[in-house]
Amino acid sequence: MLNLTGKVILVTGGSRGIGAATARTLAGAGAQVIVHYGRNAAEAQALVTELGHDRAVALGADLSRPGAAAPLFREAAAWQGRLDVLVNNAGVAPSVTVDDPLDAWTATWAQTLQVNLVALADLCREAIVAFRAQGGGTIINVASRAAFRGDNPNAMHYAASKGGVIALTRSIARGYAKDNILAYAVAPGWVRTDMAEGYLREHAQEIAREIPLGDVVPPEEVANTVAFLASGLARHMTGATLDLNGASYVR
Ligand code: NAD
Repeated sequence: MLNLTGKVILVTGGSRGIGAATARTLAGAGAQVIVHYGRNAAEAQALVTELGHDRAVALGADLSRPGAAAPLFREAAAWQGRLDVLVNNAGVAPSVTVDDPLDAWTATWAQTLQVNLVALADLCREAIVAFRAQGGGTIINVASRAAFRGDNPNAMHYAASKGGVIALTRSIARGYAKDNILAYAVAPGWVRTDMAEGYLREHAQEIAREIPLGDVVPPEEVANTVAFLASGLARHMTGATLDLNGASYVR
């Protein structure tokens, strides 16, 4: 078992799905976790109660609102007086195609880039400034297989947002290693969460066929990967992206 005792970690979108699994794993390994949520305060509070109030706290912020990320980071850092690790997990995957009306296309691109990329970049900006001042820190960004493989025609904006996350992560790793700031990405294929639920139900057989391991990724495996990266056991891996996709897309 990894030991994350003494580390204070912000997990965005931590109230459900991959974020909740990650918060559980990190807290289970000894970290103190800020469980960020978008809208569902009750869900986040229930998770904090489960993890223990000495080990976790819930903080809300709507990341579709420009400017929401910076106050979130500062509030999170104020809880224990510092942050050691930022896990950017919050994300959206709405559907739109070239056949939809232009206003739907424009709004969907704007919302997806704002939540998945711009808010994430704003949080990275806060983290870099704070980590530089305290002598280091770790950023772990949840990207997607779509960043490399591309996605279906109704999710081109999603793939583009995640491609941006990869480029940003690599740039941070290159630019701030000298300040002891480490940056990693994880790139899951299908993970069994609310985000994927509808699609997975409708396309179960086709998805199983395209995954050599035979099943989609359990959220706990993404959580384990994040915990490993947060541990500092592989510092020289900074800049890397770890794939979790059952060999459905081997690069
Ligand atoms: P999910 O829908 O269960 O969770 C998404 C989280 O993001 C939620 O906690 C939600 O509150 C938060 N969020 C969404 N919009 C927000 C907003 N405006 N403000 C604040 N928070 C907001 O989905 P998930 O599958 O757990 O996704 C987590 C991450 O993993 C996302 O970045 C997603 O793109 C990525 N991912 C998921 C899959 C998959 O198949 N489920 C695959 C690859 C990558």
